[in-house]
Amino acid sequence: MFLERICIQCQKSCIENAGLFCTRAFGFLPCFFVLVIIACGYYVTTVATFIPLLSSSLVGGILGLVVTQLLALNIVINFLLSVVCDPGGVPSSWKPKESMMKTTRGSWSRKVQLVQTDSTGDVQPTMTWEFKRNGAPRFCRYCATYKPDRTHHCRSCKRCILKMDHHCPWINNCVGFYNQKFFILFVYYAFLGCLFASVTGVMALKRALFIIGEEEGKQVVVAAIQVICYCLTTIFGLALLFFAVFHTMLVLKGRTTIEMHEIRDPARARMVRKYNLGWKRNWKKVFGNNWLYWFLPVRWSIDGDGLSFESNMDEQQMSLVESANEEGV
Ligand SMILES: [Zn+2]
Ligand SMILES: [Zn+2]
Repeated sequence: MFLERICIQCQKSCIENAGLFCTRAFGFLPCFFVLVIIACGYYVTTVATFIPLLSSSLVGGILGLVVTQLLALNIVINFLLSVVCDPGGVPSSWKPKESMMKTTRGSWSRKVQLVQTDSTGDVQPTMTWEFKRNGAPRFCRYCATYKPDRTHHCRSCKRCILKMDHHCPWINNCVGFYNQKFFILFVYYAFLGCLFASVTGVMALKRALFIIGEEEGKQVVVAAIQVICYCLTTIFGLALLFFAVFHTMLVLKGRTTIEMHEIRDPARARMVRKYNLGWKRNWKKVFGNNWLYWFLPVRWSIDGDGLSFESNMDEQQMSLVESANEEGV
C-alpha cells in the first residue's frame, strides 16, 4: 500500500500529507476570489470607464487612470503582504523564569517576570499581565509553549499567534501583530477602490445596460461582463465599508477582535481595557509613530515585539484590580 507509507521527515502517512496539502491548497481559493474581485474593479475603472473617456476628456481620463493605478497598487501590495507576512509566533526561547513562577507561599504568582532568551543568550525581562484563573502563566497545550499577553492559538494555522486578531479565510492567514497593519490597509484601500469604481463606473454601467437592451452579438456579452463586474465591485465595497469601520473602531479602542468578545466576560473586561492607551496612542501602536508611513505598506516606526504590551495601569493599580476581582467585586 503505497499511500500508507510513512514519511521519514514528518512521520505522517502519504494520505495524511495529501490531505494537508489539499487543505492548504483549498485555503487559497478565497484569496483567488479576492483577486478576481480586484480584477473586476480594475476592469470597470480602467477598461470600461477611463480609457473610453480619453477620447472626450484627455485630462479627466489620465487623472482617472493615475488614481486607479495608485489604488490598485496599494490594494494588491497590502493584500499580498497580508497573505505572505508571518503574523508572529512565540519564540521557542520565550518562557517564564522558573524562580519567579511561584511565590514563597507555593501558590502561583499573579505578576510573573518573564524572560526572553534569544539565540545570543541575552536575557530580556518582560512583564506580563495575563494569567490563568489560578494565577499560573498561560500555556498552550497544542504547541507546548507559554503564551505571551494577547497571544492565542489558531486552530486553522495550528500554532500560537502574537496579538491574534482573528483568522481570516480571505487571506488564508491569521491577522496578528506583524501583519495587522497590512490587513487593515488592504481593507481601507480595497473599500476606496470599490467606491471609486462604483461612482465613476455609473456612466459605463448605463452604457452597458443600453447595449444589452438594444444591441446583439459580441457587444452584448462584453456589456454583460461589465455589468457583472460593476455589481460584484459594489457589493464587495459595501461589505468592506463594514469591515473598515469595525477595524478602525477596534484599533482606536486598542482592542483585537478576540478581545472584543472577551470583554463581555466581567473577569476579563478589566484586563482587556488596560491595553487602551487613548485613541491617538492606540492608532500609533498599529500604524506607527510617524504619520508619513501610516498609509504606506511598511512597518516602519511601529513599536514593540508582540511579546509584551504597554498598559494604562501601573503594577499597583493592577494589584488593586486583582484583589477586587478575587473578592468578587
Ligand atoms: Zn498554540
Ligand atoms: Zn490562523
